[in-house]
Amino acid sequence: MYDVAIVGAGPAGCFIGKLLAERGFDVAIIEEHAEIGHPVCCAGILGTSGLGELGIKPGEWVLGDLKGAVFYPPSGDAVPLGRGKVEALVIDRASFDRELAVGAVNAGTTLLMKTKCLDISRGRGVIVKVKRTSGRDEIKARLVMGADGPASLIARKTGLLKSPRCISCAQVETIADVEASTAELYFGRAFAPGFFAWIVPAGDVCRVGLGTSEGSPLRKLADFMKKHPVASEKIDADKVLHFTAGLIPHPFTRKIYADSVMLVGDAAGQVKPLTGGGIYIGLSCAKLAADVASKALEGEVTAKALRGYERAVAKRFGAEFKLGMYAREVLQKMSDDDLNSAFELLGRPDVGALVLEHVDFDHHGELIKALAKKGPGLLRLIGLHKLMGYVRKL
Ligand SMILES: Cc1cc2nc3c(=O)[nH]c(=O)nc-3n(C[C@H](O)[C@H](O)[C@H](O)COP(=O)(O)OP(=O)(O)OC[C@H]3O[C@@H](n4cnc5c(N)ncnc54)[C@H](O)[C@@H]3O)c2cc1C
Repeated sequence: MYDVAIVGAGPAGCFIGKLLAERGFDVAIIEEHAEIGHPVCCAGILGTSGLGELGIKPGEWVLGDLKGAVFYPPSGDAVPLGRGKVEALVIDRASFDRELAVGAVNAGTTLLMKTKCLDISRGRGVIVKVKRTSGRDEIKARLVMGADGPASLIARKTGLLKSPRCISCAQVETIADVEASTAELYFGRAFAPGFFAWIVPAGDVCRVGLGTSEGSPLRKLADFMKKHPVASEKIDADKVLHFTAGLIPHPFTRKIYADSVMLVGDAAGQVKPLTGGGIYIGLSCAKLAADVASKALEGEVTAKALRGYERAVAKRFGAEFKLGMYAREVLQKMSDDDLNSAFELLGRPDVGALVLEHVDFDHHGELIKALAKKGPGLLRLIGLHKLMGYVRKL
């Protein structure tokens, strides 16, 4: 009987495993794959301020840094943005995840690899039904943590998943002719409806990926690499080294706790809605979850004992999630013409300065609030009344 069984040895699962083991709890992490960090679909961008806040020191997993970004609207007119200082690191996810897993094991966690969770049943505590190489087995615990990613089985089996809404993504590693320390982001309905495509320098290669709310991300990525008027000139589509596919969940699509159950990380929809970045938020929420779980484990682990978790997450990230979803929905509704107009606006020195003043890699709420406050005036100024329609339609 463990105190806590964590399903999923991704960053959120390993981080919370370490935090709980350090507090003296008997913890098992259950991971279906044979290797930590494989397979994983991620651009691997981590804000430096977020890492500092989490107390994680950059390690061998750092492949490069980012000082700015260039935005490409459908018109192809580049809008560069940056403050000339390092804002984020580009990391090797497998190696980052491994470091977190080693931290969890060193703290006393039992890591069960090649162990797939098939189901759970709850009564007094939880029985996690798993399949191992040796056959089927059961793992008993007082609390189960679903850290099993965006398609979380734990969220589905416990009725916590309210909507399966996700952004579908595909990414390759290949060679591309882009500036070091600069991420390129491409917007437009033709290639990445509802989200965007990216080229991120990552050491010797570039990560080229795309998210979409419609159709096959794989087909759209192939089109993007071969047919995008700007990107196809930079990307070597014949040197693809590594292909992955993945999902980005939405906040507010799941409840995050129930009797003897908590969700954390992507399983809980804890991502930045505008970019889909989830590592920093997932680990931050893991800290909040560890605090609430530690207290709850002093007695019976009921939903009532765990409800402080939802409150703590709402207090820390609720406004970020709400404003981010709002901004994402505005972006999703925009036609290509309106995206061109919006990025034209971003390219103006006064708007660019406003963005740089308020932008924070890991927290987008302040920027969205500043734009919402100044936005209507700016839109009127250059006659973009149409854009206001999107805001009113929300
Ligand atoms: C294309 C793409 C690009 C991204 N880029 C970035 C980025 O640049 N920066 C950023 O911060 N975030 C990025 N993200 C998001 C980031 O990858 C996730 O937020 C992060 O991986 C979430 O960590 P997690 O531990 O919650 O879940 P995961 O990393 O998904 O880990 C879940 C683990 O659970 C295991 N598992 C699942 N089901 C079971 C089961 N039934 N039994 C046992 N084990 C199971 C899986 O094998 C996996 O190891 C990106 C996502 C995508 C799709």
